[in-house]
Amino acid sequence: MILSSVSPLTILWGVLILGVLGIVFGVLLVFASIFFHVEEDNRIDEVAKLLPQANCGGCGYAGCHDLAEAIVKGEVTKVSTCKVGKKEKNFDPIIAYMSTHPDKDGTKHVPTL
Ligand code: SF4
Repeated sequence: MILSSVSPLTILWGVLILGVLGIVFGVLLVFASIFFHVEEDNRIDEVAKLLPQANCGGCGYAGCHDLAEAIVKGEVTKVSTCKVGKKEKNFDPIIAYMSTHPDKDGTKHVPTL
């Protein structure tokens, strides 16, 4: 048998080294998650849900989520930038949502049609 030719001490060292490496990398991942934490603005997801979700790129952004982010940040001031959306189904709800959900500092980025 192959296992019988390996000394128990060698197996113990292997387990010990892998265990220590697991702990070290686990601690590194904890610190990385703390230092590289990015706070997500949940308004972006809410606005994205109100867009058509066609992800066609017709607005000039990579997808609906990117346009939603630009609307929330105030970089896009016209919801009709979305070429697929409909006024009643998409644009009016986005305008209503943004008018009631300002930034943390109270600044409102309410887009127009
Ligand atoms: S044009 Fe509208 S549907 Fe197409 S990616 Fe942009 S936001 Fe989404």
